[in-house]
Amino acid sequence: MSEIRIEFEDGQSVAVQPGVKPFDLLPAGKEVGAQGVLSSLLDDAIWDLHRPLERGGKLRFIGFDQPEGRFVYWHSAAHLMAHAVKELWPESQLAIGPPIADGFYYDIDSPHVFTQEDFPVIEDKMREISKRNLPLIRKDLDDAAARMLFNKLGESYKIELINDLNESLTVYEQGDFVDLCRGPHLDRTSRIKHFKILSVAGAYWRGDEKNKMLQRLYATAYPTKELLEEHLHRIEEAAKRDHRKLGKQLDLFSFHNESPGAVFFHPRGQIIWDEITRYWRAKHYAADYREVRTPFVMNEELWHKSGHYEHYRENMYFTEVDEQSYALKPMNCPGHCLVYGTHQVSYRDLPLKLCELGTVHRYEKSGVLHGLFRVRVFTQDDAHIYVMPEQIEEEVAKVVRFIFEMYRDFGFEDFRVELSTRPESRTGSDEVWDQAEGALANALTNMGVPYKLNPGDGAFYGPKIDFHIKDAIGRTWQCGTVQCDFSMPMRFGLEYIGADGGRHTPVMIHRALLGSMERFIGILIEHYAGDLPLWLSPEQIRILPVSDKTIDYATGVAAELNARGIRAHLDDRNEKLGFKIRDAELNKIPYMAVIGPKEAESAQVSLRRRKEGDLGGLSVEATAERLLNEIRTRTTH
Ligand SMILES: [Zn+2]
Ligand SMILES: [Zn+2]
Repeated sequence: MSEIRIEFEDGQSVAVQPGVKPFDLLPAGKEVGAQGVLSSLLDDAIWDLHRPLERGGKLRFIGFDQPEGRFVYWHSAAHLMAHAVKELWPESQLAIGPPIADGFYYDIDSPHVFTQEDFPVIEDKMREISKRNLPLIRKDLDDAAARMLFNKLGESYKIELINDLNESLTVYEQGDFVDLCRGPHLDRTSRIKHFKILSVAGAYWRGDEKNKMLQRLYATAYPTKELLEEHLHRIEEAAKRDHRKLGKQLDLFSFHNESPGAVFFHPRGQIIWDEITRYWRAKHYAADYREVRTPFVMNEELWHKSGHYEHYRENMYFTEVDEQSYALKPMNCPGHCLVYGTHQVSYRDLPLKLCELGTVHRYEKSGVLHGLFRVRVFTQDDAHIYVMPEQIEEEVAKVVRFIFEMYRDFGFEDFRVELSTRPESRTGSDEVWDQAEGALANALTNMGVPYKLNPGDGAFYGPKIDFHIKDAIGRTWQCGTVQCDFSMPMRFGLEYIGADGGRHTPVMIHRALLGSMERFIGILIEHYAGDLPLWLSPEQIRILPVSDKTIDYATGVAAELNARGIRAHLDDRNEKLGFKIRDAELNKIPYMAVIGPKEAESAQVSLRRRKEGDLGGLSVEATAERLLNEIRTRTTH
């Protein structure tokens, strides 16, 4: 057999016989272990340490600090948990058990109803299996053998999965446990050291509510005790900040079965929304964008033309009007293209920037809906910038600056940028892709913005840049995106008259800065744990008269502050001051103005800033100035 060439990270390379394992090529000084090497990457594919190499390529060894390393770790931990469950409750059937963002889960169909009390029992069993130090063995099976195996094991969900798989089947074995699985995996169970089962929830098989409800065990695992504890602390923090809980507590929004996955904003939530959009509009107007508003419902034909029907139909809502099929828009782009097409556009008009706070409907399975984070109806802060090809780089740079500026105004300082390039299946020539990817990369490089490259992750019509923000407890959220599109302007026959007098097709830059308004509000609530900056606070100051005697003066103070554009509320309930203060605290009201006889007499208020405490006696004028300044500067705490 002819040799294959393996190239290492340091540039060195060796020629080896096919069948050699990455494990055999481990350089001196690197060791396999929970805190060492967990797996390897052959080019960009994760390759098990003990899986024979069949082809050459670039070989890298990875640990828990790489996303691929965590992926493998958590996937193997999912097997470990399933193994433990099967030993404890053998009548359980296994569905699927993938790694997720911060750990893993396994969906299980079991006559045993899992509760919190079972978690330590399962963890003990996992520890025991981990200590058995079983090797994880990958095996290829043909369809018949796989069916026979899982039939014998009584794993009917696995049989269903086999029915769907057209590819070659693999299983992973550890001891007597075997799972239908593509892998990749760790080499031994003992690598999985510290883990915690976090919760159990109902989950429909395949996420479809027509199917049986299974039990989903959520868990996580880390190579060290410290890392696990840090993570558990983050979860605790996150629970305190849960926007669904705070949304209820602060009376911001609600959800109703009458429209699953759609947000009902209450008056207080709507104020946050309005403040964001007012700020957003002013920024966009100043940056030369022009706002449009396009319909929710458009003829199905349009979606054939745009390509959405072909590529996105499963997520779309359809309806019939006058015996014609219409669709609710899942994206705003086609509507903007219709607007563009109503004008004769000259190269002097470019870049042409159309923006819209566009509400879109996208079908999501009910199982994945999650508060404001995952909904079926949301409003994108969308815009489409039509440019000449040579303008892409400059416009993208402007958008990047715009995005950073906006995130900072909301109090986010830490961002991460990712550039995704051409996928396998795509439209457009290689020259066009070269140009677009080059323009996006140059825009970032020239601005000194570091980015992570995601080869092959671009949209079918063009490359994209994603923007992630880091919140107060270190979680990252993808918000903004910039995509370069050569295809849609062509599909819609859009043109501009060039300097040469000829007709040309513009390039379209899709971009959203905040992403979805709903989701962004959820992120803000969690980032600030409900203590929003003053400019976003639904109620900015609460006026607290100490007794009936000062109500008249307090009413006047509230009226004066309201007249100055400050959202002031008077708490004139017949309650003790202590009760009113606690209530304002609970509602996270940034300022309180306490008004007793002394304040009424001296025409002052006794001002308190949440988290800062007592600020002493201030005139109403000074109070207004202080608040207005904080609002104007969008101060964050
Ligand atoms: Zn698996
Ligand atoms: Zn778009």
